[in-house]
Amino acid sequence: MARAADIAVETAPLEWEAPLWRTAVAQLEQALPHANIDPGTAERLRYPEHAAIVSVPITLDSGETRIFPGYRVQHSRVLGPTKGGIRYDPHVSLGECSALAMWMTWKCALLRLPYGGAKGGIRCNPRVLSRGEVERLTRRFTVELRSMIGPQEDIPAPDMATDEQTMAWMMDTYSMQVGHAMPEIVTGKPVSVGGSVFRHEATGAGVVMVISRACARLGWTLAGQRYVVQGFGKVGGVAALELADQGATVIGVADYSGGVAAESGLDIPALQRWVGEHGSVQGFPGARGLTNAELLELPCDVLVLAALEEQVTGKNAARLQARMIAEGANGPTTVEADAILAEKGIVVLPDILTNAGGVTVSYFEWVQDLGRLFWGRDEIRRRLDEKMSDAFDRVWDLADEKGLTLRSAALVVGIREVAAALDARGLYP
Ligand code: NAD
Repeated sequence: MARAADIAVETAPLEWEAPLWRTAVAQLEQALPHANIDPGTAERLRYPEHAAIVSVPITLDSGETRIFPGYRVQHSRVLGPTKGGIRYDPHVSLGECSALAMWMTWKCALLRLPYGGAKGGIRCNPRVLSRGEVERLTRRFTVELRSMIGPQEDIPAPDMATDEQTMAWMMDTYSMQVGHAMPEIVTGKPVSVGGSVFRHEATGAGVVMVISRACARLGWTLAGQRYVVQGFGKVGGVAALELADQGATVIGVADYSGGVAAESGLDIPALQRWVGEHGSVQGFPGARGLTNAELLELPCDVLVLAALEEQVTGKNAARLQARMIAEGANGPTTVEADAILAEKGIVVLPDILTNAGGVTVSYFEWVQDLGRLFWGRDEIRRRLDEKMSDAFDRVWDLADEKGLTLRSAALVVGIREVAAALDARGLYP
């Protein structure tokens, strides 16, 4: 009888080996002892199910032909089609997409969405490409992925440097191939082609729903806290506005240009208008300027991280003065920082829970596209609140019961959902 250890033939690293992949696997390994799942099932979770590398050739505006490497990774297809963004970035790689796909699996499962995780992208510098070049790249990439994506197979969405227009081009290219309009092939589309009226605000609104739930559990009021928000884009900008709308005081905000702060509170709608006119938060009247590093260390109750990955690290975690951190961005806190924050008693609301409003409303968009029946903003918001609250309660209760951090608890909850489905279906053939 062959045993797994006897038949191991692979000694060279597998193709998706990369630092980010190792981080994702390390998190999985940390959570597994608390998940109580079958070792064979756990083994299946350690690998992406499908991974593709494609060459995407386009004619540049100069008339030259150029090939760009493209990737798509599907981590788990046990719960339904896979779901995940498409990014255009010089650092995109098979390993990066594999890690992000694995995180998407846990996030979707945690929210009880009938999806597995995927991620993809093209290795390019979108800032030097013209609109026409990006359109040709997008359309050709869609055709290269034709056998892998589909409304019941894998549904792309926007990610770094891709947006509603990119999704409209993908939807059009796919629809032309199948011969009829197929809005359910992507989410994050313009409303005119079946997009959701609430998708733009979804992630930021979801972040505030999670903060509100956490405040209630801690006996705090949302409006009574002082907030600092790093990142003032689709996630941070919307979250800051929601917080201000609910009567909270936002004392500091930062974007790529640095931060602005006012102890008495910033006028967020006025700051939004300022950014619209001037391109960044810098110079906002009545506020003092500060660096991003200084902003993170401002005394406050809640620090919302909604910009980039790896912002709180082993270097600055000990200096943070917030009582709670809400991760709107993906991976803003390193493993090293997590340990320091836990020691300081700072509550960390983890990314796979806190920023899941985006994929949840994407799921609603897909359901509406499939049914050709569209809901209004209030309906979507109410359903989002229900989903986020349910996931939050399951995470918080498990953390309490097992004495885990909220991050570990969120991972365990997500992993258990996927493992239960793998066990129920069994191993084919
Ligand atoms: P965005 O491009 O709309 O906004 C990013 C913001 O961060 C901008 O205000 C930008 O100026 C700022 N920023 C950039 N570099 C910075 C720096 N060095 N220091 C401080 N601020 C900086 O992007 P977004 O969609 O808001 O995404 C932000 C994060 O949230 C990313 O990690 C993304 O993966 C994650 N996320 C987004 C969604 C979504 O639906 N948009 C969903 C889940 C997770």
